Amino acid sequence: MKDLEKLAKFDKKLAMLALVTAEGIKPVSKIDSFDGPEEIVQHLLEDMGLCVEIKKQGCRSDILFGKASSIRKYHEANELRGKERVYALGIAFGYPDCCSKYFSEFLLGEKDEKPEKLSPLEHFSCPNCKVSPSLRKKYQETMDLFI
Ligand SMILES: [Zn+2]
Repeated sequence: MKDLEKLAKFDKKLAMLALVTAEGIKPVSKIDSFDGPEEIVQHLLEDMGLCVEIKKQGCRSDILFGKASSIRKYHEANELRGKERVYALGIAFGYPDCCSKYFSEFLLGEKDEKPEKLSPLEHFSCPNCKVSPSLRKKYQETMDLFI
């Protein structure tokens, strides 16, 4: 788990996401506006068996990582528009169907109750979600193992 410790030095959230993605709990993850040595990070993520895409945004970078097939699904979702796009991205990031649907409707003002963010990940849980509690437990157990 040396790679993870190195990743955590640059960005703790990145290390957590790398772990749950490498463990297959999340199919794909993304860090926006990463301010650090992206080439080193790319090698560390690749060492964990993840495919990596880096998009330069000025002097910062967006880092996308996961299995190749999951990265393809992310790009397909990103091609969509509006509510469909938000929903498909939620699915691509591995969030439950109910939460992805609720979040896409919430963003369009179709739902009033704010979804709960399962920190430190970007999973927004729908109210009274049946799936998220066990997923939250899985995120936590995986992270507790190594960090
Ligand atoms: Zn849900």
